[in-house]
Amino acid sequence: MQKTIEELEKIAVKYDPSMLDQIKSAYEISFQDACKCAVIKNKEQKSLYISFRNQKKLYLSENLETPIEIEHANMLVKDLYPEKWEEVKANYNDPRTDKYIEQTKKNIGLLDIKHGWDSHLPKDQIEFGLDIWINLTGSGKVDCGKLEDGRWVAQFARRTDIDDYDICAMFFEKEPTKKMVLIANTVDQAETYFHIHTYKNANFTCWECGIKTHWLDVNNEEPGIIGKWGMLEEKYCGC
Ligand SMILES: [Zn+2]
Repeated sequence: MQKTIEELEKIAVKYDPSMLDQIKSAYEISFQDACKCAVIKNKEQKSLYISFRNQKKLYLSENLETPIEIEHANMLVKDLYPEKWEEVKANYNDPRTDKYIEQTKKNIGLLDIKHGWDSHLPKDQIEFGLDIWINLTGSGKVDCGKLEDGRWVAQFARRTDIDDYDICAMFFEKEPTKKMVLIANTVDQAETYFHIHTYKNANFTCWECGIKTHWLDVNNEEPGIIGKWGMLEEKYCGC
């Protein structure tokens, strides 16, 4: 589970200026984009991109006397570019959206969503199919079944390219309905979108009235996340 920026800043170590100097002299560091990342290049000019979202451990050993381990990679960016950090961190922080998505998942009993080439539902465990989308491959339906561990899976395959496909497996704690799968699909879209584009568009400017609105404050006709998400995509507040 990703920590929020606030949580991370609370536990973050402030890196020693002399350590930052060592890193700066061993690597060529540049700031790329207010929203994406810093780039570290080693002497062979191989680039390592550190996104503001990257909370993984960072281990720097090349051209250093003693290797340096950074507990959360993005906290290094914070100390290298403190002014930039202040500027962009708002884009990475939207507890309201996080809470809403978490609550939506809880409401439908969504445990996890996996994408890839692997099936998570053996054919002989398929109990029923849901007719939801027309462009699915395989059975053409969303196959549903209960696993031995008690979790339910709703799974479907989509072609993503001429010779490629994606199997999406949604894990639920209760028997999935069409509505639950549709909501889970929107949750998946929203999470992916915010992960790639940050939360900067969570507040969008309505094309009709020009007023900036948070996507959770729109006046949506269709209830819940599906309605709200559609309006964020249209950039329309419902005025
Ligand atoms: Zn409006």
